[in-house]
Amino acid sequence: MSADPLRAGERRSNTPQTNGDRLWNDIVGTARFGGAENGGVTRLTLSDEDRQVRDWYVSECRGLGCTIEIDGIGNIFATYPGEDMSLPAIAVGSHLDTQPKGGRFDGILGVLAGVEVLRTLKESGTRLRHPLTVVNWTNEEGSRFSPAMMGSGVFAGALSLDRAHALADREGTTVGAALDAIGYRGEADGGPAAFAAYVELHIEQGPLLEASATEIGVVTGVQGVRWFDVEISGTEAHAGSTPMAQRDDALVAAAEIVLAVRDIARQNPPGVGTVGFAEVGPNSRNVVPGSVGMQIDMRHPSEAGLDQMQAALEETVRTVGAGADLRHVWSKAPVVFDPPIVEAVRDSTEALGFSATDIVSGAGHDAAHIATVTPTAMIFVPSKDGLSHNEAEYTSPEECARGAQVLLQTILELDRR
Ligand SMILES: [Zn+2]
Repeated sequence: MSADPLRAGERRSNTPQTNGDRLWNDIVGTARFGGAENGGVTRLTLSDEDRQVRDWYVSECRGLGCTIEIDGIGNIFATYPGEDMSLPAIAVGSHLDTQPKGGRFDGILGVLAGVEVLRTLKESGTRLRHPLTVVNWTNEEGSRFSPAMMGSGVFAGALSLDRAHALADREGTTVGAALDAIGYRGEADGGPAAFAAYVELHIEQGPLLEASATEIGVVTGVQGVRWFDVEISGTEAHAGSTPMAQRDDALVAAAEIVLAVRDIARQNPPGVGTVGFAEVGPNSRNVVPGSVGMQIDMRHPSEAGLDQMQAALEETVRTVGAGADLRHVWSKAPVVFDPPIVEAVRDSTEALGFSATDIVSGAGHDAAHIATVTPTAMIFVPSKDGLSHNEAEYTSPEECARGAQVLLQTILELDRR
């Protein structure tokens, strides 16, 4: 079956055509690096499997006429020359690492689509004004080394290179040693200092595009996160001899908070709120619970939305009783992508005749770091059943091909500006 991204009658643009079959061959072919029998992939960052896929990508890009640069955290920048080499490059890319028992699409699709764009430009003799850089960011997944999105974080200055090098995995191997072991530690200033724009193609990792039968997600940002811990103290008492009116039941108060978290999220769309952890003391059938500790996760695309959700949560905890103590333990600000770059993605999708919807990413991405230093946007394609970080992760050849074509069209649009 052909993975031609444009259906008959929809060839409204004169953009050169990416080759969907060739992209699909790469997706299937690169899944052998860390691949499992069932189609899943385990390619932890800076492992030997990661080295193999990096070597493949570097050799492929060199063959297309790219120069290769590697920085101190092992990010790889493959740059295809433009007409005006004094201009900063337009960058695209994503990550080649996976979760343990991950899939064939999360991350690598954005890199492989970049490589397919390079091939298409070369074979059609299309010359951009700007250089075009395809990037592989080191350790997006954060599974072997924490934190996630490490390479893009170092590039954006959110994490220092020295600190990153010193971080260790569970076996005690540091990032620095792991980079040396696979031969991908470059110089601190070994990569480009800045880009004109950054566009990342990625699978949605959620169910929205599939559910609405929409071909392309125009990603407007990444939602923010706030984490809270709540400790509720009641009075342990005999479950048989303590009358209902005289109970100070910590779990009943906790239940009110759980329902309130759900309601607060529903009242602040598209916010989401979850109580994913609860510990009851003493956790015994015939004892009125004396204590509950819970962990709360709240997310919203805007800071104002997060503020409202937090205020409502604080109010709930106050009214539940003096025995409840709420602590704000961690947060991550929402990211709003650059409106002109988002617009370029939207216009490009429209020009190609694909159905599209604006969408906010529920998951973190390298693009969230890059957005702090470069005008940035993302393109989403559907994930079957919303699955990712799972060996069953799937995006069809046609869906991948449409994503690559929107990526190319967006690059051409940005290059004209
Ligand atoms: Zn990813």
